[in-house]
Parts: sequence; C-alpha cells; structure tokens
Amino acid sequence: MQHNSRCLYCNKLLPISTPGHRACQYCNDACRKAASRRRKAMTHAITLQQQWNILPAAARERLETIQDRYGPEAAQLATEAIREVFTESLTQVFRIAHTFRFCKQS
Ligand SMILES: [Zn+2]
Repeated sequence: MQHNSRCLYCNKLLPISTPGHRACQYCNDACRKAASRRRKAMTHAITLQQQWNILPAAARERLETIQDRYGPEAAQLATEAIREVFTESLTQVFRIAHTFRFCKQS
C-alpha cells in the first residue's frame, strides 16, 4: 500500500511518487533551497557556539537567548560586537601600558 510522504521542509503532504521513481523529499525547489539554507544556518550556529567557549558563562547565556529569540544572524552580530569591544579594550590596555612605560623612562 502506498502512502504519502511529507516535505522535509514545510511538512506538507507530497504527491504519491510514481513506482520505480525515487520519492520526492520536498514539494518544490523553494522548499529544497530553504532546507539547504536552514542546514547551513544550523552549521553556522555550531560555529558560533564554538566562538562563545572563551566567553564568561553569563555572556554565553545571553548570546544563546539572542539566538533563540532572534536567530543566528542576530547572535552573530552580537558576537561581532563583543569582539570589537574586546579588541578595542586590548588596544586601550596596550596604549596605557605603553604610555606608562614611556613616562617612567623619561
Ligand atoms: Zn515543502
């Protein structure tokens, strides 16, 4: 007995496949492409979480909340903002250290 399978992206019922043909996995090209985008976004999310490993737990929790509520793109932007702040503070620290050394020597 044949049964309808469902689109792997939108979960709509697919037309019964012709015997001898490979069953369709998606209802159309749009769903197939969207599924591929979603897979990429999930891979992206893993990479993001790897970047968060060096952050304090509290910051990591906030970023996870951002990702859940607004998606991986928002979380990526927040991660970049943190990195900018971090890089800028390091630059400041080096500048202050350099100035301090310079004053002591002269
Ligand atoms: Zn579909």
